[in-house]
Amino acid sequence: MSRLIDGKKFADSLCNKISKEVSKLKEKNVIPGLAVIRVGEDPASTVYINMKAKKTKEVGMHSVTKILDEKTSGDDLLNVVEELNIDESINGILVQLPLPKQINEDSVINAINPDKDVDGFHAINTGRLWSSIDSLVPCTPLGCKMLLLNELKDLTGKKAIIVGRSNIVGKPMAALLIGESCTVTVAHSKTKNLQDEVKKNDIVVAAVGVPEMIKGSWIKPGATVIDVGINRIEKDGKKKLVGDVEFSEAAKVAGAITPVPGGVGPMTIACLLHNTLVATCRKNNLEIPKFF
Ligand code: NDP
Repeated sequence: MSRLIDGKKFADSLCNKISKEVSKLKEKNVIPGLAVIRVGEDPASTVYINMKAKKTKEVGMHSVTKILDEKTSGDDLLNVVEELNIDESINGILVQLPLPKQINEDSVINAINPDKDVDGFHAINTGRLWSSIDSLVPCTPLGCKMLLLNELKDLTGKKAIIVGRSNIVGKPMAALLIGESCTVTVAHSKTKNLQDEVKKNDIVVAAVGVPEMIKGSWIKPGATVIDVGINRIEKDGKKKLVGDVEFSEAAKVAGAITPVPGGVGPMTIACLLHNTLVATCRKNNLEIPKFF
């Protein structure tokens, strides 16, 4: 049986360290502020945003939540973003995705001041990440990288495959692992012989959105498996959360594996707070604490 990578424990410990840094900033009269904008009433987004606001306050940061009507126009949303761009009490802005159809997501993401773009999705931050220049890094891949470094210490020379090429997970994950000197394969829905590709790798990051698609038999013995997937399914009449990896079988082969829930999920919010702290330190020309 493989080692379980406890993302919840790691995220709690990261939040404690962030909280201590926030206390030190407060002694300098600096209070990090995070604003989250939600458009519409999607229940999953609502739960997630409430959780973000709760955690933001728990670490001592200033938390603002803006809730806009489902029918809000793109221009109205851009006005709210602009207000937050110039608001001195706000260091991080996050627009909860997906947005309703009438709003162009790219135009909203790229209207956020890149220095406050704590989701790391702005084209400037994407370019900086791929150019190995300090940037705000998308939270989920950043959390995966932290878990991998904590587990393996040094990733140099490891063969890594990322299954999924989205802008929010797969692509930035590839940039981060290249930055750690891994040899990286990015697979997607058009990849041929996926199971053979997966089997060649020391690290597998699954970000597909298909429940338990990556089978245990595809995993190289001893590999480290990071399961980003969050899928709500019904099994034996009960609702449950599963990842993109067939956990029960993969756990028999892998060296270490993240569970779902309790793996990558908690890291995403912790990294959002991490990014807000980084953005605050940069704005105030203060040293950025190193947590990993
Ligand atoms: P997207 O739907 O944006 O991307 C999915 C990717 O998987 C695409 O690149 C797609 O390929 C690829 N893919 C789909 N089907 C297959 C297949 N059969 N074989 C190989 N590749 C396939 O998803 P996201 O990146 O946004 O999210 C991925 C998963 O991670 C989801 O379960 C999501 O819920 C979860 N997630 C979890 C987070 C967390 O906090 N833990 C945060 C963000 C996401 P193609 O490009 O060719 O279509």
